[in-house]
Amino acid sequence: MTTTVRAYAAASATEPLKPTQIERRDVGPRDVRIDIAYAGICHSDIHTIRGEWGEQVYPLTVGHEIVGTVAEVGSEVTRYAVGDRVGVGCMVNSCRECENCLAGFEQYCLEGNIQTYAAVDRDGSITQGGYAQGIVVDEHFVLRVPESIPYDKAAPLLCAGITTYSPLRHWNVGPGSKVAIVGLGGLGHMGVKIAHALGAEVTVLSQSLRKKDDGLALGANHYYATSDRETFASLRNTFDVILNTVSAPLDLKQYLSLLKLDGTMVNVGAPPEPLPIQVFTLFANRRSFAGSSIGGIRETQEMLDFCAEHGIAPETELIEASAINEAYERVLASDVRYRFVIDAATI
Ligand code: NAP
Ligand code: ZN
Ligand code: ZN
Repeated sequence: MTTTVRAYAAASATEPLKPTQIERRDVGPRDVRIDIAYAGICHSDIHTIRGEWGEQVYPLTVGHEIVGTVAEVGSEVTRYAVGDRVGVGCMVNSCRECENCLAGFEQYCLEGNIQTYAAVDRDGSITQGGYAQGIVVDEHFVLRVPESIPYDKAAPLLCAGITTYSPLRHWNVGPGSKVAIVGLGGLGHMGVKIAHALGAEVTVLSQSLRKKDDGLALGANHYYATSDRETFASLRNTFDVILNTVSAPLDLKQYLSLLKLDGTMVNVGAPPEPLPIQVFTLFANRRSFAGSSIGGIRETQEMLDFCAEHGIAPETELIEASAINEAYERVLASDVRYRFVIDAATI
């Protein structure tokens, strides 16, 4: 038995998303049924639905920045009750038994976590994401959304928020740190807000100075255009941490040269192409190049509470579901200010 909900899906990698209906499983003992209120648009949705990261099974509904209200709980659910404000991010399951899951790093589950969309679920079906009016998720993968964060603004925290918070915390960003955020899009603008709230000196490295005023208002101390060659010369050996949020390949050598002694460049941007590294650039200053994937459930809750405490919320543009395809084009043109959020009532 399943329940049918309204959703937006693409029928192939080359077709636009259109209104449809999808099935959600019945609520199991540990499941929570959520009436979705808002869903953010992440660039990963676009990479996935257009087949850039590999072939997909269609029709496919994406979306992994989900907030809504609990509508039903299973008989063994202890953490949530009907009416609670909740969120769901990029994962809906993991093995819960491996070393990494037990340490709270479900995103690094050794069996592979089950992603919110486009993944094979335990029952063999393909998971369908949050551009929908409802979803059923195991309570372990449900987050509590603090009351002080406006509902529509909370959605992007579930991916853009945690994906930037986790590496900034892991690499000990705080007072005295010099941090560069590369790319001022959905992830990048959250990276600026969070790094600023952590007390770091924040520099934005953007393709142009088009968004400079915004970047400074978001909390950046400095803003440079990477199209200006002088930027790389003047910032050599400057940063402790560079967080790269760019969805396309970059010339890493140029960016790595900006790291000071023991500095780390963390890649969260996920272009499909491999990124070549010249190792001599790493030898200089004992530099590191690292990757980071979203964050665990415990850390995601910590991030939500941190944002509530510091009054941090994403800058969003609320759209009707019929504008999803147009929004995709604006994201691809780096014309997002700074996250599109779909009003699920319009799905
Ligand atoms: P987004 O809103 O499109 O932001 C990406 C930004 O990168 C753009 O706003 C633009 O900023 C810059 N950019 C785009 N194309 C560029 C190019 N050709 N050269 C240089 N800069 C370029 O995307 P997002 O939602 O923040 O996601 C960013 C990336 O992170 C995507 O690849 C996504 O799949 C990935 N991601 C990874 C994780 C993870 O767990 N690691 C989680 C979520 C997303 P400027 O205009 O300022 O230059
Ligand atoms: Zn995402
Ligand atoms: Zn595991």
